[in-house]
Amino acid sequence: MRDVEVKIGAFVDRLANRAIWRLARARRSLKTELPLVSFTFDDVPDSALHEGAATLERYDVRGTFYIAGGLAGQVEKDRTLITPEGCAELLARGHEIGCHTFAHHRVRSAGGLAADLDRNAEYLESVGVARPARNFAFPYNAAWPLARPELRRRYRSCRAGGEAINRGPVDPLMLRAVEIRQPEQHAQTLTRWIDDVVAEPGWLIFFTHDVAPRPTPYGCTPETFDNLVRYAVEKGCRVLPVDEALDRLDW
Ligand SMILES: [Zn+2]
Repeated sequence: MRDVEVKIGAFVDRLANRAIWRLARARRSLKTELPLVSFTFDDVPDSALHEGAATLERYDVRGTFYIAGGLAGQVEKDRTLITPEGCAELLARGHEIGCHTFAHHRVRSAGGLAADLDRNAEYLESVGVARPARNFAFPYNAAWPLARPELRRRYRSCRAGGEAINRGPVDPLMLRAVEIRQPEQHAQTLTRWIDDVVAEPGWLIFFTHDVAPRPTPYGCTPETFDNLVRYAVEKGCRVLPVDEALDRLDW
């Protein structure tokens, strides 16, 4: 894609997300005395299983993995995507599997969306996810107002980006999240978000992609990830998969 098209696309993404955050009516009041933290992964690269899930398990907590079936087993230049067997393993180890569309395209129309979500549901069923995914994450964190009825019909929550903690009136179809990504010096400072949610309890959702010694620009190192999980646990946060956090909030 040409540069200018990429820029226009990113501009439309920001505009659509902002419009939803400002105007959407589906708001719930987020009340929690304990700081809640969720660690989530998008796509999902296999290192999120080998390093990410393993790290969470060391602290006896679990995460949410938003799977796009169309990416399954793909080998890219700097990462390999999780196989169907890998998905089944995540599930067996107590993690939550969420939906991230099948095709991993931006959600920009309601028409093709239903068929794509059905296809991902079939994929997830084929890897052993017994009940349909209850939570969704937007590819590229790009939401779309017209897609909301279809998403609302299927999921308890949808996660975007937004670099903020969920507090006060929150739209479950537009949860905010903080990205864990390169450069490493930046990723190491993300403990400040945990300090923030401890000082004023809310729901802090992190998201990342690969967890590798030489991560992509959209991932982090095992050390950084371990440090964040340890910090959250040590500070007394309840670290929960998205679906369990929603249960706890009684939404
Ligand atoms: Zn993605």
